[in-house]
Amino acid sequence: MSLSSQANLAGYSAVIESSRHLSSALPMMMTAAGTLKPARVFIIGVGVAGLQAIATAKRLGARVEAFDTRDVVEEQVNSLGAKFVKIDLGETGQTDQGYAKELTPEQIIKQKDLQSEVCARSDIVITTAQLFGRPAPQLIDSKTIDKMKPGSVIFDMAVESGGNVEGSVVDEIIIKNGVKIIGVSNLASNVSGHASLALSNNFNHWICDFYDKDTSSINFDFEDEIVKSSVIAFDGKILNERFQ
Ligand code: NAD
Repeated sequence: MSLSSQANLAGYSAVIESSRHLSSALPMMMTAAGTLKPARVFIIGVGVAGLQAIATAKRLGARVEAFDTRDVVEEQVNSLGAKFVKIDLGETGQTDQGYAKELTPEQIIKQKDLQSEVCARSDIVITTAQLFGRPAPQLIDSKTIDKMKPGSVIFDMAVESGGNVEGSVVDEIIIKNGVKIIGVSNLASNVSGHASLALSNNFNHWICDFYDKDTSSINFDFEDEIVKSSVIAFDGKILNERFQ
């Protein structure tokens, strides 16, 4: 829940940051000085951050397309008024917990190839693709970047876990072929007030759920899924399997 609350704000922040680096506005404007076309935004990875990025870009008036290997998200993308890009990669799918399954190297090559045309027509590409507990897949390489228009922006939200974009660097803006490749860490801190509010609400709900008023202590019931997955160490021992 804590990760999701921060990822949601990070998705919002990635759109705002990307738009600051674009030399055009996001919405269509019909003015006496001519019609300004809406910006095209492509979101790769439609989890918590990606969904909020779609919603934010739509609110700002952009034309939004999105892709995820979990085809269950197509309906969510459509419900936000964006277009789901169909790329047939064969069997993909998700784990029982709703996370993406890792693609084979052949599938990754196919994805890069088939999505490169969408990147080429986009003004902003935001990548959010992550694999739970593993490095992020590299999905945009220099061949795709070379096809993109000078002045366009790629925002790599996975930069801290290995990066989805070739050449992206944490907390730096790299310019390649006129395309800005942005990697910003700790994006939620751009909206620190709401990030703190959401995180403290997450902590408050956790404590209220497991606080035992009679004993004035936390009831660490390790049969409970939430306790089991959120407690790392207890009574001098590391209990959480992922940290062992
Ligand atoms: P995440 O940060 O791990 O990944 C972001 C997105 O990248 C995911 O939608 C994933 O499918 C996508 N992705 C991975 N490889 C890709 C590729 N090659 N191309 C395109 N997209 C790719 O995921 P998240 O935002 O934390 O959550 C994703 C889903 O997991 C949610 O929709 C939810 O159903 C589930 N979830 C489960 C829990 C839990 O505790 N079980 C918690 C939060 C979210």
